[in-house]
Amino acid sequence: MSLGTAWMKGSVLINELFPIFETCSNVGAIIYWGLIRFALVLVGAWVLYNFMPNYSDWWTLFFVAVGLVVVYPAQLAWRKHVETVRHASRNGLCATCRHFAAEETLCTKLDEHVRREYTPCGGEGWEPGEAVLYTPEL
Ligand code: SF4
Repeated sequence: MSLGTAWMKGSVLINELFPIFETCSNVGAIIYWGLIRFALVLVGAWVLYNFMPNYSDWWTLFFVAVGLVVVYPAQLAWRKHVETVRHASRNGLCATCRHFAAEETLCTKLDEHVRREYTPCGGEGWEPGEAVLYTPEL
């Protein structure tokens, strides 16, 4: 098995085990799942507290867990969200519509997220507006 194939299978497995990586269509979902993971880390740290003889080791473990379980997945989700936003603004129809909110990748008329290959209204709600090409910084 090549390294690329192993990487792809690993990514699919991680997405199946941790569906949080799929819920990055908006910033609210990223924050929500970050808070859920932080709460789980707090519970885990609280449970482990009685089993750690050295208090400084507990703090070290806590900060490592926060970094790996809370911050890193949130950063991955944020990068994926930015990529989604970048692609959404390439939906030619929505990018030229007055109802398109580029930073939220949102159709404000239907309150639905726009994707590059998906136009929520199917073109029926299009009204002329300024062309938007949102290119956020990473
Ligand atoms: S009204 Fe239609 S074309 Fe305009 S932003 Fe919404 S989905 Fe896109």
